[in-house]
Amino acid sequence: RTAKAAGRAYQIYEDSIDKYSAQRLSLMAELGTAILEDQLELFYQPKISLHNRKVVSLEALIRWNHPKHGLLGPDKFISFAERTMVIHALTHWVLEHSIAFTKRLENKGFQLSIAVNVSVRNLLEDDFVDNVKTLLDRYQLAPEKLVMEMVESAMIEDIELTLATLNQLHALGIQLAIDDFGTGYSSLEYLKKLPVHELKIDRSFVRDMVHDRDDRLIVSTTLVIAHNLGMRVVAEGIEDEATMNLLGEMACELGQGYFISRPIQEDKLIAFLEESSNDKTTPFDQD
Ligand code: C2E
Ligand code: MG
Ligand code: MG
Ligand code: MG
Repeated sequence: RTAKAAGRAYQIYEDSIDKYSAQRLSLMAELGTAILEDQLELFYQPKISLHNRKVVSLEALIRWNHPKHGLLGPDKFISFAERTMVIHALTHWVLEHSIAFTKRLENKGFQLSIAVNVSVRNLLEDDFVDNVKTLLDRYQLAPEKLVMEMVESAMIEDIELTLATLNQLHALGIQLAIDDFGTGYSSLEYLKKLPVHELKIDRSFVRDMVHDRDDRLIVSTTLVIAHNLGMRVVAEGIEDEATMNLLGEMACELGQGYFISRPIQEDKLIAFLEESSNDKTTPFDQD
């Protein structure tokens, strides 16, 4: 490899990084303003009981109504927010809006829990637990109705502090879910150490499980482990009826995916709940 070729490769590399960073940097600078100016919006995706098909929970998924770029998905800005302090304000915003919405649903007679995606970064904030407690008190929502979804992460910088925070949240009654289970790091070790209530099987194992024997085995093994450890299981990414039925037969408690519902806005979600006449369930009640 000549020096010239190496130089050229380096140049190309640097150009693409610069472009990438410039775009990211401007988005990042705008993200703080976006929170203040209410450009963020939550979509909600139902989790249903695979036993009786009723909605038992909602997952809040963030979108950014960018004035120039249109509706941006979380993949465009979350990892960026996580590397900066912005994730703190963002998670607080998500918690407040989703807790307020869940309370409004409760006042309409819908007893649902709410799942919020929380970054491991949030657990290192001094006042995270206090802030969550303040929000639950303010909106008078039972802590048992709040589920925090977290991905297993190699980024855990301070395992002691992270564990202490998770145990405090658990002591308040808040539930913890491991998101995208099977794709992260040292899954089984975390399962043993953390106060986990729910496992969400990553959609990469769910997608082809009707036809792929290996995927089906991964799903059934995960179910055995989770159930033996006293956890419930959610299958994410259910895109057809055959998959939904198979998961029900395998005694997977909950399901989520485009076949059931895409993530939708508040008014659509209320219509969806009214249509599925979902008013008499309690969260995670299987009957
Ligand atoms: P996640 O928590 O695993 O959420 C599931 C993602 O899969 C969502 O994408 C959802 O729209 C999508 N999905 C759901 N059902 C199906 C399906 O049947 N098929 C397919 N192909 N996809 C499906 P979304 O909304 O783009 O979110 C992506 C990720 O961004 C989330 O993954 C979560 O890790 C993160 N995220 C979303 N909202 C927040 C937030 O408020 N805070 C934080 N920290 N992260 C968030
Ligand atoms: Mg999630
Ligand atoms: Mg997930
Ligand atoms: Mg996933």
